[in-house]
Amino acid sequence: MPDLHALCCGRLRFDRSVFFPGEAPGALATVPVPAWLVRHPKGILLFDTGIECAAAADPVGVLGKGISSTFAMAGAAHENPVDQLALLGLRPEDITHVVNSHLHFDHCGCNALFTRARFLVQRAEMVAARAAPRVYPARAWDHALDYQLIEGEHDVFGDGTVLLLPTPGHTPGHQSMRVQVARDACFIATADACYSEEHLQRDLLPGAVWQADTMRESMQRLRRWGEQAGTTLLFGHDAAQFARLGPAHKPLL
Ligand SMILES: [Zn+2]
Ligand SMILES: [Zn+2]
Repeated sequence: MPDLHALCCGRLRFDRSVFFPGEAPGALATVPVPAWLVRHPKGILLFDTGIECAAAADPVGVLGKGISSTFAMAGAAHENPVDQLALLGLRPEDITHVVNSHLHFDHCGCNALFTRARFLVQRAEMVAARAAPRVYPARAWDHALDYQLIEGEHDVFGDGTVLLLPTPGHTPGHQSMRVQVARDACFIATADACYSEEHLQRDLLPGAVWQADTMRESMQRLRRWGEQAGTTLLFGHDAAQFARLGPAHKPLL
């Protein structure tokens, strides 16, 4: 069985109303930007690559005025994929597979570091990114990398333990990942298909939505999966849950 690790690849601070559109502006939220590392006998997979490291020093230059006026970079210096992988004794060149849940700046910002990996991205997401460079800054994802465009559910290692599950709505080609870590235990990294437990419980959609009905359906599917015995949802940007997961080198179970 593979094991799964939580890596902190930055933190974002912003007005809570960005995540909870019904709320009056004025309260700040700080959330983690996770990446998830899977060690499988057939490969080492990273699900999402966080925010580009250079954004901490030059947010406007790296992310553009629009994104950097909404989001402040609030991560510590070691909260980046290179330092987090080092906690596991790994370097970027050890990664054989990268999955991007979607191509927003906080999920693919360090893609360029993983020059030896095969990238698994939903075709609909790549089409959307190419069509809207203001929403999907090209410097994060538009590199000569081994992008393999997939359509629909995908069994990464062919044994059912690491499944990519389309969860569109937040973006056109958003995907989540299910990892079986024991016979009776699995995790589903929702990514931005569900930002936090609070969003799930209150059935709330954030401001950043491509298609609200589609996102609601995806969230409903995640809810049903999460209710199955032995299944734990790992939310996309949930500060309280992430704080309980422990450091990168500790496998989740
Ligand atoms: Zn997103
Ligand atoms: Zn995000």
